[in-house]
Amino acid sequence: MDVPKNLRVLAFDLDDTLAESKCPISPQMGSALSDLLGQVQVLIISGGTYNQFETQVVEHLPRSADLSNLHLMPTCGTRYLRWDPAHGWTEQYSHDLEPGQRRTVAKVLEQEARALGVWEPQENVFGPRIEDRGSQMTFSGLGQSAPTGLKKLWDPGGDKRDRLRVAVQRLLPDLEVRSGGSTSIDITRKGIDKSHGLQMLSQVLGIELSAMHFVGDRLDPGGNDYPVKALGVSTFQVENAQACLQYVRAILDRLTLGAHPRNGSKPLPGTRGEYPPTELCTFAPKAQP
Ligand SMILES: [Mg+2]
Repeated sequence: MDVPKNLRVLAFDLDDTLAESKCPISPQMGSALSDLLGQVQVLIISGGTYNQFETQVVEHLPRSADLSNLHLMPTCGTRYLRWDPAHGWTEQYSHDLEPGQRRTVAKVLEQEARALGVWEPQENVFGPRIEDRGSQMTFSGLGQSAPTGLKKLWDPGGDKRDRLRVAVQRLLPDLEVRSGGSTSIDITRKGIDKSHGLQMLSQVLGIELSAMHFVGDRLDPGGNDYPVKALGVSTFQVENAQACLQYVRAILDRLTLGAHPRNGSKPLPGTRGEYPPTELCTFAPKAQP
């Protein structure tokens, strides 16, 4: 396990890392994150919007979770929010694209997707294909609300996204173009990506990058987690949320052993390998009441 010995910040991607794409985290992951928040600072940085952070993660954390140690960076770190007991989740900064840039991006995305044959017929699309998130524009091949199963079948090898990413980047050299979720391309201001988010957090908390560790599913060059690896932060690639949960439990076990050097066999409550298996979410944007 390539985790820094002096680990102080554990950072995660969201979709296909903490949770299946656009699904809530599992109760087991909620419990594991809560345990982590008692030990280290936790950053979640993702291409998703703040609203997704709320419905996928925050609403599913145990009430006892220490939110003061949780840092949220939606839209690839172009926004940063922290918990304030008096005001709730409070924006620390937001790096928005100019309105003119956002119109140009939308036009180029549609034009290039049509030229490459990846602009699906309307009847195959669920919700908006191009979403204006202020600080980020996102293209989703099958629309924002497409079922997870269909999304995974759309571009399993990543070829469609790669071709579109390269074509769009060529026309928008002043912006950052990255492949995000299973059908999506994210566009932000240049130099504003997940590595920027980790650097900002390092400054805010006064914690060296060498004491940070990042877990994501797209650490390949061209993936939206790659800038973190390129920055030199230690990283770990997972295939899905199930693999991520196993990894988090292993880290918790290690942190716990470190905290109890004379009684290493006594883990914190909830950190033993006793969780039931995680059910894969097939498409449940919000947990049923
Ligand atoms: Mg991901």
